[in-house]
Amino acid sequence: MASEAALLLEAVDFAARKHRWQRRKDPEETPYINHPIGVARILTHEAGVTDITVLQAALLHDTVEDTDTTLDELERHFGAQVRGLVEEVTDDKELPKLERKRLQVERAACSSPGAKLVKLADKLYNLRDLNRCTPKGWSEERVQEYFEWAAQVVRGLQGTNRQLEEALKQLFADRGLSL
Ligand code: NDP
Ligand code: ZN
Repeated sequence: MASEAALLLEAVDFAARKHRWQRRKDPEETPYINHPIGVARILTHEAGVTDITVLQAALLHDTVEDTDTTLDELERHFGAQVRGLVEEVTDDKELPKLERKRLQVERAACSSPGAKLVKLADKLYNLRDLNRCTPKGWSEERVQEYFEWAAQVVRGLQGTNRQLEEALKQLFADRGLSL
């Protein structure tokens, strides 16, 4: 049986190889892998999460949506539980963008507890990133609309983790939004 450290490093190495050509949308074009690592770190350092499958899912959460990774591939490498969590946090890219965003709001409340944790940490990371600097080509209105949509998703994720929800609540309050 692999150690927990080995399981985490397996996931971070897999994600780093899959995301290796991708960059974030900030003007500095930060390497994409900073985001899944940061999401997993929020879970360990701010939310007190120790469940290795949840942390692996956080590291892998954008591999299916944004790279050629398949759910079967994740199951072979990381098992059925991690596959299931990543599946829950993956948007169907065949659907139009507005429909994908609507479904995130609709499905938030019926997600599993592990998926809710990953979704909360993902939103927290992205909203902090937007506060840090505006992505290339984004207007202030677009940033505000993103916060408004994120608040709708987070409303369905409440009752999962006090620390993450408090941090998000504060970011929304700074934008005049309540949960
Ligand atoms: P996008 O979905 O296009 O972009 C946000 C996503 O990009 C995040 O969820 C995150 O996803 C990823 N991302 C990559 N880099 C960053 C970064 N530096 N900071 C934050 N997120 C990053 O945004 P939307 O289309 O939702 O735009 C926001 C709002 O603006 C919408 O609600 C829409 O109504 C409005 N709008 C949209 C336009 C459009 O062309 N789509 C045009 C004008 C307004 P991940 O975690 O997967 O990396
Ligand atoms: Zn993400």
